[in-house]
Order: sequence, then C-alpha cells, then structure tokens
Amino acid sequence: MIKVSINGYGTIGKRVADAVLKQPDMELVGVAKTSPNYEAMVAFKRNMRIYVPEENKEKFISAGIEPAGNISDMIEESDVIVDATPNGVGAEYKKIYVEKGKPALFQGGEKSNVGEISFSALCNYDEAIGKKYVRVVSCNTTAMLRTICTTSKVSPVKKVRGTVIRRAADPKEYKKGPINALVPDPASVPSHHAKDVNTVLKDLDIVTMAVISPTNLMHVHLLDMETEREVRREEILEQLLSTPRIVVVPGKAGINSTAELVELARDLGRERNDMPEVMVFEDSVQTKGKEVFLMYAVHQESIVVPENVDAVRAVSGMSKSIDLTNASLGIRK
Ligand code: NAD
Repeated sequence: MIKVSINGYGTIGKRVADAVLKQPDMELVGVAKTSPNYEAMVAFKRNMRIYVPEENKEKFISAGIEPAGNISDMIEESDVIVDATPNGVGAEYKKIYVEKGKPALFQGGEKSNVGEISFSALCNYDEAIGKKYVRVVSCNTTAMLRTICTTSKVSPVKKVRGTVIRRAADPKEYKKGPINALVPDPASVPSHHAKDVNTVLKDLDIVTMAVISPTNLMHVHLLDMETEREVRREEILEQLLSTPRIVVVPGKAGINSTAELVELARDLGRERNDMPEVMVFEDSVQTKGKEVFLMYAVHQESIVVPENVDAVRAVSGMSKSIDLTNASLGIRK
C-alpha cells in the first residue's frame, strides 16, 4: 500500500483525498489543515487524521478536533505527499520534502521548475515513472493537453491557436470577481496557458489568449489545431469517443451550456457535482483540410484529480494506471 498524505486540504486537496480513499493500493495517512474551519471539522468527522502546524494545535483542540500530529509528522509517515497548497506555498514545502527524502506532487499553480517534470497522463505518463517530484499541470493545461494528444493520435498536431474562457472563481470563493465584466487575462498575447502546454509538448507551436468570465462552474476552450495531414471529422470524433477522460456531449442531448453540464453531473449523482472528463461539444467538432476546430468545457475543481492519482503511482515507480484510476473513480471509459 502506498501511504499518501495531502498537504493543503482545499478545492483540489479534498478531492484528491477522497480519490486516494478509493484506490485499492493506497492508504490515506491524513490531511494537513492550518485552521480548524468547517473543512477541517468535516474531514475529522469523516475519520481522516488531521495534521496541523505545531503552534496551532491548541486552536484545533478547542474546536473539538484532536490533531494526529504536526505537518512534519505527516510528511514523515508518508510515502508520497500530494501538495495542494496555494500557488507558491508548495515550492516552500518542497524544501522539507527534499530534506526528508519524500517524493511529492505539486499542482499547476506552482512554477514548472518545482517538479522534475510537468505531468499529463495522456501525453507523457511514461516519462514521469520513477521521478521524485512531479507537477500536475493546471486544470486548463490538463484539458488542452488531453485534447491535443488525443487529436495527435489521428495525425500529429503541429500548431494550436486557442482561446480560454476562464471561470472567475470556484464556487466557494465568495470574495473573488469580476461579477459584471469580461476581463482579458492578460490583455496581451499569449496567455500563460500556451507556455504551460509547452512544459509538456516542448516543440508545439501554440498561442493562447484568455478572458475571465463572471461564472464559477467551468471553463470553456475554443481550439483550432493544425494537423500534419488532412483529417476527417469522423476520424477525430472516433478518437475522442474512444479516449478515456474525454466525453463527447451529443448534440441531441440538448446540452448547450456549462450550466446544463453541471446539472448533468448532479443528475448522475456525481460527488460534489464533479466532472473530471473533458466535455467536448459534439457539434463543435469540425475539420477543414488540416485544421480541426472544437469547443469543450472543463470542470476546474475536479479535472486534475485522476492525474494526481496516476502521478502518485508514477512517483512510486509503478506502471501506467489510467484504467485502474478511472475504474476506481467511476470515470467513463
Ligand atoms: P484552495 O485555496 O482551495 O486550497 C488550498 C488549501 O491549502 C487551503 O485549505 C489552505 O487553507 C491550505 N493552506 C494554505 N497555506 C497552507 C500551509 N502553509 N500549509 C498547509 N496548508 C495550507 O486552493 P486550490 O484551488 O485547491 O489550489 C491548490 C493548487 O491547485 C494551486 O496550485 C492551484 O493553482 C491548483 N489548481 C487549482 C484548481 C482550481 O480550479 N481550484 C484547478 C487545478 C489546479
């Protein structure tokens, strides 16, 4: 059993913790919390061990949460640490992981040099096996890479021009905005997403632009990809349909928006309305000569969860586990 702990129990951390609990070959050591808020209380009630900063122990005890130890103890007791702390904090923790000789995963908000490799299960899984420090790329980059590497199976993608319509905040983030504006992010070209895709697909000619939109449900991407040879729409659709972690949303389903996709997740009884698959709108998939056009939606809170589970196995030296991860998480295909 791989002993896994979660440092940073927020949007991503809590989902990865639940995913770890579902793995037949993993054991959740516990989760690190810095303050005894509602998330800590729920995790404690669910019998997760809570590790806290030494100086905050009393606060947790007063709130009725008996800490299992401090964060350093948690790292010590783990085989792998999934760091899902806020942007930049993971790089600080890396010093401790290195000092204690523990493999660790980092998230997309960290600079790419925090890991030995930036990871995308459908693009460079094998290269990550046996590495000690792996950065799972961000939600937007994960979705783009899944889509590009899948299209490349039909004919190698040479060039990508993409537009990212970003959700402004996660549902719990009540202080973030905008609420009445579309904000170019940034009002210059390219957006950082292209550079992040290049951390995995180093030679790809890619330019992205991004706009923040006042919504909190999902991102939407509009991609224009150029392939090596002329491709047919049917070939692309067939490849998308047969690829794990990508769902083709049929035109006849009457789903025209991210609101309805989240309603679908609710109707399916998905935990937390999660949808870790890239949701490609079937009618948006078109080809013209060597160009492939498509649009898809990205559930930012959950898309990186299966990649984190795969990456735990990769840093543990285990072979590719996409099918095992998908089956354990109830992910289609
Ligand atoms: P979050 O704010 O929801 O969660 C971060 C958690 O870390 C919080 O619970 C916070 O209390 C805790 N924390 C803060 N300082 C800490 C410390 N010193 N020690 C231990 N815990 C500490 O953030 P998030 O959205 O889960 O993002 C985490 C990482 O995942 C970031 O790199 C982010 O860029 C990336 N990411 C986020 C999303 C998303 O849409 N939310 C998607 C993909 C990747």
